[in-house]
Amino acid sequence: MKKVLAFDIDQTLNVAKTPITDDIADLLIRCLDHFEICPISGQKFDQFLVQIVNRLIDRGVTPNALSHLHLFVAQGTQYYRYEPTAVKLGPIEITSESNKIPYKEDGWRQIYNYPLTDEQVAKITETIKQAAKELGFWEEDKLKEGDEIIENRLSQVTFSALGQKAGTEEKYAWDPDCKKRASIVARCKELAPEFDYEIGGTTSINAITPGMNKVFGMTHLLEELNVKKEDILYFGDMTQPGGNDYPVVEMGIDTITVRNHEDTAYALRGILGIIE
Ligand SMILES: [Mg+2]
Repeated sequence: MKKVLAFDIDQTLNVAKTPITDDIADLLIRCLDHFEICPISGQKFDQFLVQIVNRLIDRGVTPNALSHLHLFVAQGTQYYRYEPTAVKLGPIEITSESNKIPYKEDGWRQIYNYPLTDEQVAKITETIKQAAKELGFWEEDKLKEGDEIIENRLSQVTFSALGQKAGTEEKYAWDPDCKKRASIVARCKELAPEFDYEIGGTTSINAITPGMNKVFGMTHLLEELNVKKEDILYFGDMTQPGGNDYPVVEMGIDTITVRNHEDTAYALRGILGIIE
C-alpha cells in the first residue's frame, strides 16, 4: 500500500488561490489517519495555512493528526512540519498528550530552506524590470496602494504584472494568450540566462534557479520521509508535458491526473472506501 499521498494545490485541492472546501478538508483529515499527506506548490507558507491548514482546523483536525501533514512550500524548496509542543531544535516529538495541547499557528517548524541569495534576488529583479520596461509592460501606475510587481518569495522571485491585489477580471484580461509574458521571458533569457522563467497564473512569471521545480521538492520529500518512489501517489492537474506537475510524472512516481478538486475528492473516496 502507498504510504504517502502528495498533492499539487491549485486546481487539485482547491479552486486556484482559494481555501479548500469542507468536503476536501474532511477527506484529508480521514487520509491523515492512514497516510503521510504532502501538499507541494509554488506558493508561500502563509498561503498553505490559509488554503489548507486553517480549514483542517475549522473541520476539527487533531494536533496529532497534523503531525502527518508535511508542507512542501515554494515547490518544496522549504519544508514545514507541525510540532504540537513548541518550536525547538531536535527531533519532533509526538505523544498521546499532544492532542490536549490546543493548536498553535506558531507550532509549525521549518525543517529546511533553500532560499535564493540576495545577489540572485537582486539580479532577477533588475532583469525582469528591465525586460518589462523595454517591452512596455511595466505598469506601475496600475498598482493598488502598497502593492508590488515583483515579490521575493525566498526560493523564487515572482513578477505579477498588475500586482497581487488586482481584480481577477483585470488579471485575466491582461495576457490571455500568454504572449506578453512570453516576450518578457525571452528578453529575460537574453539578459540573465542563468535563471529559469516559468509562466504561471494569469499575469505571473516565476524566476528560479534551474532545477528548483517539483523534482527538487519530491526528491527532498523522499529523503525527509525516508520513503521510496513506489510509496507515493501524487495528484495533479498539470501532468501533461510542459505542465508544472509533469516533472513528477517524469520521475516515475505514480500519478493521478485530475481536472479539479471534485475529481480529487472522487479518487480519495475510492481509496478510503477500500481501506476504512
Ligand atoms: Mg495545479
